[in-house]
Amino acid sequence: MVIKVLEVELQKRLGSTAKAPRWAIAYKFAAEQTVSKIIDIIFQVGRTGAITPVAILEPVLLDGSTVARATLHNEDEIARKDVRIGDSVVVQKAGDIIPEVVQVIEKLRTRKEKKFHMPTHCPSCEAELIRPEGEVVSRCPNRNCQARRKERLQHFVSRKGFDIDTLGEKILDQLIEKDFISDAADIFFLDYTQIKSLDLFEEKRTKNLLSAIAKSRIIPISRFLFALGIRHLGEQTARDFSKEIQEKIDDKQAVDVTKEKKKMMEQISLFGDTEEEFSDFVHYFTPDELSKAISRLSREDLSHVEGIGNKVGESLYNWFSDSDTLDLIHKLTEGGVKITKEKFITHENPNFKGKTFVITGTMENYSREEAKRYILQGGGKVSGSVSAKTDAVICGSESGSKKSKAEKLGIRILSEKEFQKKLQ
Ligand SMILES: [Zn+2]
Repeated sequence: MVIKVLEVELQKRLGSTAKAPRWAIAYKFAAEQTVSKIIDIIFQVGRTGAITPVAILEPVLLDGSTVARATLHNEDEIARKDVRIGDSVVVQKAGDIIPEVVQVIEKLRTRKEKKFHMPTHCPSCEAELIRPEGEVVSRCPNRNCQARRKERLQHFVSRKGFDIDTLGEKILDQLIEKDFISDAADIFFLDYTQIKSLDLFEEKRTKNLLSAIAKSRIIPISRFLFALGIRHLGEQTARDFSKEIQEKIDDKQAVDVTKEKKKMMEQISLFGDTEEEFSDFVHYFTPDELSKAISRLSREDLSHVEGIGNKVGESLYNWFSDSDTLDLIHKLTEGGVKITKEKFITHENPNFKGKTFVITGTMENYSREEAKRYILQGGGKVSGSVSAKTDAVICGSESGSKKSKAEKLGIRILSEKEFQKKLQ
């Protein structure tokens, strides 16, 4: 059941968090559960090298879809639940998306079940796995591990990263296999002949992919940082960090997005379609410039950024002092990646912060309550009466005695228009 605020104006005012709108809420039934049998346990290698055990199940219908795999999270979790190959288990969809094994049904055991063992070596590259003290996850430490590389690339082009949606998993597989790409930056050096040589790529599809890659080159800072797949730097922390760091970088250079795209297409002699002629300038800085700005910060500086703790600070510091990753950053710059600054919604408004306002009269576009809320959100105060402590009086039409008192005391008077300006 979904409960929503219907009025669009109210929706706009409520806005949303990083994850969901504030004007709608969903109530769900408890996760549906079902019983299946574990045929095998395999190991997946993640982007950061984390090894996740996954149960291969006898396919069952669960909550409207067929489930054949379920995550077992980690070694400790398997030990705690005593999951064995051949076990009958209860599975459910966690958060209604990823199926997981809830528990083993012990009374259905036949004693033919096999205990399983965590591998000691990476299933993809055979490097010896490490499990740092105090952590529950075993990791493949090999940065050039094929499985990790693929996961990294998938993350890089994902919707929250560079958002090249035409570059799916199967295409990435082929590009890696043919040795056209080995790291993310290689994507920006792909040429027409290479892409055309992929399975099922005729001229139009080749053109579409090249155009999608060209377009993705210009990217907002938080998505760029997220795409790099730095450990502990999630979507929200990437945003918090971007807000701070972008202030330290000049974006004096400007690029005409349309022209840039056109140039790209001309280079591969495919351009010819009639495209709208308009200029769309954006200011940008390069990945190299971003990394320079970050390198100027110490471990402590990084940890003190609002929204960033020690763990993320440490991770950022390590990432940006590693020569391999700096090579990647440089290659991205060479590949024409351009980063743009973002406007982040902050509630604090310097025009209101620490100041006391009085609202009087009738405004055309705001009720008094609304105006009051905006001022409070911006860090200001609203008082009912005009006094020497009042910083400004906001006057709508038909303002009476309060306006004249303000005039007498020499207090600043703001019209609705001026208030609106300050709000923006
Ligand atoms: Zn590996």
